[in-house]
Amino acid sequence: MLPDFRVRQRDYLLEISRAITQELDFATVLRRILQSAAELLAGQAGLIALREDGTGASIRWHVRAYYGIPDAYIAYFDELLADVPEHGDPQRFALPEINRRLQAIAEVSTLGLLHGVGLPMIVRNEVVGLIFIFRSYASAFTANDRALLSSFAIQAAIAVQNAKLYQQVSWEKRRLDAVLDGYADGILLLTPSHRIERFNRAMIKLTGWTPAEAIGRDHDEVIRWAWREPGPTLAEAEANGWPLDEHSAPLYVEGDLLRRDGGLTPAGVSYAPIFDREGRLVNIIVDVHDITKFREAEELKSTFISIISHELKTPVALIKGYAETLQREDAKWDAATVQESLAVITEEADRLTELIEKLLDASRLQAGALKLNRSEVALDALAARLVEKFKTQTTKHTLSVEFPDNFPPVLGDEERLTQVLSNLLSNAIKYAPGGGAVTVRGRVEPERVIISVSDEGPGIAAADLPRVFDRFYRGESELTKRVKGTGLGLFLAKAVVEAHGGRIWVESKPGKGTTFFFSLPRYNGQMTDSR
Ligand code: ADP
Repeated sequence: MLPDFRVRQRDYLLEISRAITQELDFATVLRRILQSAAELLAGQAGLIALREDGTGASIRWHVRAYYGIPDAYIAYFDELLADVPEHGDPQRFALPEINRRLQAIAEVSTLGLLHGVGLPMIVRNEVVGLIFIFRSYASAFTANDRALLSSFAIQAAIAVQNAKLYQQVSWEKRRLDAVLDGYADGILLLTPSHRIERFNRAMIKLTGWTPAEAIGRDHDEVIRWAWREPGPTLAEAEANGWPLDEHSAPLYVEGDLLRRDGGLTPAGVSYAPIFDREGRLVNIIVDVHDITKFREAEELKSTFISIISHELKTPVALIKGYAETLQREDAKWDAATVQESLAVITEEADRLTELIEKLLDASRLQAGALKLNRSEVALDALAARLVEKFKTQTTKHTLSVEFPDNFPPVLGDEERLTQVLSNLLSNAIKYAPGGGAVTVRGRVEPERVIISVSDEGPGIAAADLPRVFDRFYRGESELTKRVKGTGLGLFLAKAVVEAHGGRIWVESKPGKGTTFFFSLPRYNGQMTDSR
């Protein structure tokens, strides 16, 4: 039979290992170990100090659990334990030094502690803490007591190690969560049977599902294709043996994902397998990349090509046609026909030049290089000049200008502002083919001036309104389709106005005409001189 203290020791140790595996919080486990050790060693007080890496060759210790010691003394203990020198052999870890300090601790007379015994807590050859037990009566600790305490020191060391590992794992998990949630692409983690295990934040926007709703569901419930490029889906690829092993290339599927609200998300989805050491498939990582921008760029490119080819072809064909006709040696042309043909050639050549200028401006803008050549500009005079010029181009429209007297000048690039106003006037005429009034108005506000150009045309559909300033955007109306254009005019006008620190906007109701407005900041520099 075991001697009595062995039985009790066994019971205490059993209780402690239970506590360690019960996932109790770390401080509770340490307190239980300490209490059991104190009881078994007939001590009245005890403490566990844990090592926290200090600077240089010294170590910092902090009391993390104590028993039988008033709170107020703990800081004092922390101080006594500060800077215990490092020792090469953890088994003999600074024992003489500990004993010396123990003596000092025991001598804290007000505590009434007479004897102390302390041991290092060692895991994997590393000292992670110190455990002390104190007695308040005159009976020194024996070698047997020390042996007993060492079994508690081992348990405490294991508990510390566990807590550290747990902390590390939960920190790694938190880090992984933060990475996944902060990731711009949608990320899913699938089981081999395609059940969703993880669903990051970006997926919410891409699919319309929330993590709580999506986790546990089948992949096919959340990743639904309204349309996709030819090629296998995840299930089809697996039926063909994908993934063979960890070196298998990721599977890629591209198309339009059906969102939960019925909307579409253009997306490229990559599937990458994860295998365990035995070569078994454990997870599939799914990366959902929003390709809306890419699609828009592709569309823009094809719009660009179709508009440019059309806009370039028409004048070139006209020029060539007229030139070839004039060139014919078998025909004699009267002076009027020659003049008329040459006028068409000149006009079309001008159109080409204008188009090329617009394209150059658009590409300069893209490169961020729109330079303004500023000087004082009298917008009222500028508007009057342009209206006179446009009057010669139409008989159906009644053009007029309405500016208050003493309209203040602005500081701007006259050529660029002429381009903006010309574009608005030319649109007002082009897009109101039935004629009507076209009016340029000026208004003065304390901080800005506002210029508007209104027409009495058919107006702009609500769906087109937000997009008319976009590059290459042309309205969807039948009228727009009949009228020549590149969709660059308003885009450039917006860029010019904004480069001046102003704003451009439009108001229109179908059937009620259209008014474009732009504002420019008031020029305060020489206001008094110019008035
Ligand atoms: P473009 O005239 O070369 O097509 P813009 O950038 O000047 O390009 O205009 C973009 C679109 O806005 C036009 O295609 C047309 O649909 C619409 N729009 C512009 N001005 C008017 C207007 N005054 N009335 C009706 N629609 C207009």
